[in-house]
Amino acid sequence: MQQLDTQLLGDRILFISAHDDDSLIGCGGLISNLINLNKEIYTIIFTDGSLGYTRESDKNEIVERRKRECIEIYTHNQNNVVFFDLPDMSLNNYECWETITGDKGGYQLLFYHLRKIRPDSVFIPHHYDRHPDHQSVNRIAKIICWQVTQPILPDYGKPLSQLNLYAYQVWDKIKGAAVEYILNKRDQEFKKNTLQKFKSQQLIINQFISDETNLLREHYQLIS
Ligand SMILES: [Zn+2]
Repeated sequence: MQQLDTQLLGDRILFISAHDDDSLIGCGGLISNLINLNKEIYTIIFTDGSLGYTRESDKNEIVERRKRECIEIYTHNQNNVVFFDLPDMSLNNYECWETITGDKGGYQLLFYHLRKIRPDSVFIPHHYDRHPDHQSVNRIAKIICWQVTQPILPDYGKPLSQLNLYAYQVWDKIKGAAVEYILNKRDQEFKKNTLQKFKSQQLIINQFISDETNLLREHYQLIS
């Protein structure tokens, strides 16, 4: 299988996530490598993660708790994080510029931040994933990563030149041509330790890291 060449990713790399832990589940080893290469790393998290509780008693505080955890984890990893705080499992309502109720849609939020961050490479969840929010982020990002390169909306900043767009695997395997990143020991440790810091998601994370093969390789697909 073809190996992901980190040299081709440029200096500023953006990971787009539906939920706070997606990009670390899918790209934690690669992020470890990029931190060591002194790359500038950004993460955009679309949802507030409000449905990610596994005990009823956590229901009212899950959003605040996840955010606190997340800021700590990403700051510790020299990652610049942006929250869109959109409702969990509802991103299909935000596949637009402006919602029917006049709120900013996912297109508008992402357009603004892409023209501001101006990444060389962008990683988004793969559309094969079963989670509807991951599919929505994939669709929104594919459209907007192209739109920001077009000579439109100059008030949002200058158009970007062509960026490298990759899709990453979260839960379901990428079928067909994929590139892989093989984690070295340092990357494996980083990924495991970082994921374990998502205490509110412990049950799900423990299930994921208990399968050691999940810490050996990551799979990506080059979109453009
Ligand atoms: Zn997710």
